This record gives sequence, C-alpha cells and structure tokens, in this order.
Amino acid sequence: MPDVPLDPVPASPTCAVCGEAIDDAGYLPATDLDGSYRPHSDDAVCGACGFTEVGMSGCAPELDEVAESTPDDVLLYVERTSEGFDTVSVK
Ligand SMILES: [Zn+2]
Repeated sequence: MPDVPLDPVPASPTCAVCGEAIDDAGYLPATDLDGSYRPHSDDAVCGACGFTEVGMSGCAPELDEVAESTPDDVLLYVERTSEGFDTVSVK
C-alpha cells in the first residue's frame, strides 16, 4: 500500500462515541485528496468503540456508520506513533 500522508496530522483526536482521547489506535474518516488524506478528526472513533458500539457485532465499522460520507471519503484505521499516526488500513 502506498504511504499516503495525513494532512494535517490530527493532534489529539477524541472518540466521537465515548469522548476519550484516541491514544493507541482508532478509526478516522478522511477525504482522499489524491496524494494525502485530510482527516475528519471530529468523527474519529476509538478502536474499542469502533468494534463494540459502531460496528456492533465485533466487526470494524463502515465509513457511513461513523460519518457523513462523500465519494472521495475513506475510513482509515490508524495507530498512534511517536510521530503522530500511522495509517494501518484503508477502506
Ligand atoms: Zn470510544
């Protein structure tokens, strides 16, 4: 997978479901800008809520379950690193 940067890198997103800071991994809707992703930090969901609250039965959520989506939007699964966030998967 090509390494597509987040622009801007979200500083400290909080979960839209439980309100906790996302400090390990979570789901982040973003707009695909053809070379970078513009994250929608307000709609970020932490890993635990993504599985239990949003995805409900132990599946990762779909984009339209966490955010109003447009055709250019994607749902990123991100992991916190010392530098910011790493994009682990995209759907
Ligand atoms: Zn949460």
